[in-house]
Amino acid sequence: MRKIVLILMICCTAFAAHADGKLKVVVSFSILGDMVGQVAGDNVELKVLVGPNGDVHEYDPTPADAKSLANADLVFINGLGLEGWMERLIKSSGYKGQVIVVTKGITPLSSLERGSKAFDPHAWQNIENGKIYVGNITDALALADKINSSQYKNNSKVYLNKLDNLDKWVREEINTVPPTKRKVISTHDAFQYFAHAYGVEFIAPLGVSTESEATAADMAKLIDQIRQQKITAVFFENMTDSRLIKQLEADAGAFVGGTLYSDALSASGGDAPDYMSMFKHNVPLLVAAMIKNPNPNN
Ligand SMILES: [Zn+2]
Repeated sequence: MRKIVLILMICCTAFAAHADGKLKVVVSFSILGDMVGQVAGDNVELKVLVGPNGDVHEYDPTPADAKSLANADLVFINGLGLEGWMERLIKSSGYKGQVIVVTKGITPLSSLERGSKAFDPHAWQNIENGKIYVGNITDALALADKINSSQYKNNSKVYLNKLDNLDKWVREEINTVPPTKRKVISTHDAFQYFAHAYGVEFIAPLGVSTESEATAADMAKLIDQIRQQKITAVFFENMTDSRLIKQLEADAGAFVGGTLYSDALSASGGDAPDYMSMFKHNVPLLVAAMIKNPNPNN
């Protein structure tokens, strides 16, 4: 009898931390938050630190963030230097659990910034990489919460299938633009993975982080490049300052093709409230603007 009581006590202690039975998961930024949510469904209590339209490169964690981390069972980050503020936050919160880096297993692109040996963190802009994120998320959730593991695996399968179709659709859309016209200007270098995967050239006044600043010389060089290559399509980004792009529009005779979602989702009800709708929003804008680029050979 005493043995049974003891076993019961151990069981209850293991579950007591989460009376509602839900795994407490903290995710660094909104795009990753959506992906974790797609796999997890309603089975976890999800806290996203950098929310809709927030800049994950430059973020000041709050005391509430530290509290969320201190109570977390599992933490997901992008890695590749995206969340420079995370290590200090984890340390100060006292979180001792696992930190899952969802870019594990992707082939990272190097940052094009001068003299930099850093990696470009924006790997989610290639849907094939997004699928690797989903695989890593699924493995981590299934391991941390065995009771719901089959549900995570099922959700993952359905989601991966949708991502396959989305990837196919992106390729078809981009292919409607003649290859010589596939050039656009965005604010910061967030689309190199998209560029590599789908054959579009992106040129940006800022490097792979929004923390850098474009000098007058950088801007003059870019204006020359825009004129020479006859690029007319420039884009705002939802989470960066629009002044640089407005300057290009005025000085280089370009036109603004719209706002691209690069590092953050929109709020729910907006243009891009989830990872898939980010592509559904960005790609038609890119295609419409690139078609208008004059043929550089004329
Ligand atoms: Zn970025």
